[in-house]
Amino acid sequence: MTDYTVVVNAGSSSLKFSVYRKAAADSWALEARGQVEGIGTNPHFSAKDGGGARVGDAALDGNVNDARAALGFVADWLRGRYQGAHVCGVGHRVVHGGAQYSGPTIVTPEVLDNLRSLIPLAPLHQPYNLSAIEAVWERLPGVPQVVCFDTSFHRGQPAVAQLVPLPREIRDAGVQRYGFHGLSYEYIASALPSIAPEIAGGRVVVAHLGSGASLCALTNGRSTDSTFGFTALDGLCMGTRPGALDPGVLLYLLQSLGLSVKDVETMLYKKAGLIGISGISNDMRDLVTSGEPAARLAVDYFVYRAAKEVGAMAAALGGIDGLVFTAGIGENSPEIRARICAASAWLGIELDHEANRQRGPRVSTRASKVSAWVIPTNEELMIARHTAALLGLGGDTPAPAATRAGA
Ligand code: ADP
Repeated sequence: MTDYTVVVNAGSSSLKFSVYRKAAADSWALEARGQVEGIGTNPHFSAKDGGGARVGDAALDGNVNDARAALGFVADWLRGRYQGAHVCGVGHRVVHGGAQYSGPTIVTPEVLDNLRSLIPLAPLHQPYNLSAIEAVWERLPGVPQVVCFDTSFHRGQPAVAQLVPLPREIRDAGVQRYGFHGLSYEYIASALPSIAPEIAGGRVVVAHLGSGASLCALTNGRSTDSTFGFTALDGLCMGTRPGALDPGVLLYLLQSLGLSVKDVETMLYKKAGLIGISGISNDMRDLVTSGEPAARLAVDYFVYRAAKEVGAMAAALGGIDGLVFTAGIGENSPEIRARICAASAWLGIELDHEANRQRGPRVSTRASKVSAWVIPTNEELMIARHTAALLGLGGDTPAPAATRAGA
């Protein structure tokens, strides 16, 4: 009987999944990946096989209005497609592992309780992540589940990088810099030795530029600092989030402009960043092709902020050997890469324009003092590897960087 692991990434309005088949004693092959989007509004299911061919595409009825119902639909679809298959583990992406979970963990009722206590720290993500775990429990009782956290990779950062400079009692209540996008950075760190061996052991800044955007400073594959902090609002300008903001602005919004806490939360998570500046779109593709001055300003700010933070990460590392671009914008926009590299020329980055158009993987010239790269991220594979490793399922084990991060 063929063994499968399933990876689940449940968000507020989408549920993404991947199915990995144990192809040989030592590797897991992507069998299918898909998602239910528009949960709560216009739910829609789509899926592709491991080769990228579409194997599912359907509008769903309005009953699919939460993560649990979406998971129910996906489970039925998987059952129909892989009749009699043996699911040997389910891995979940969970945004917050707090200070306690510094690596992937097998789900028990106690672990789930601990993760529930972190809901106030990630109210827009954690509840959906956890309800998917509960739904799998109901549907596949007895199948072990593993939680992989976006925060774990950063737990080895120096104390100063994790500090929020507020009084002791506030810090004791869990207010610290956690950092996110950790599974993406861990994957990149694991890929560096084969793709960019000359910088893998050095000082590398990774730019995960997607709808959410952040930077991570790696020293020898370990996280040293990152631009995300206590929440995923800090740092770079994002599609709908502002990135770093003077906290005095929040006081002014609440005290002088009379906005409610809910209004401010909605503004910070959904109406700021690229959409807030441009008033046109949160999608970089729309903005780079728009002739509107407000769209140009949004792109200018995105690039300005990213380049400024590349400098800050280089300072945290005491120098920089390589810059890696990943995620939707980082992988697909030669223009944004070129602009960030041009603004970072003072660090010794010289872009190879032809390689940049071709998407690398190396996009800097041979003479460039600091090399630049494009490496597609693969958070799902990272989760599948962790799930297989933790459950002793065999298959490819995490690369050394990933093992260290979990320690
Ligand atoms: P997430 O997983 O955080 O939703 P992704 O990493 O998939 O985000 O990135 C999505 C974003 O990538 C889109 O919102 C879009 O702005 C951007 N993107 C995708 N392709 C391109 C492209 N060719 N040029 C510019 N931006 C792009």
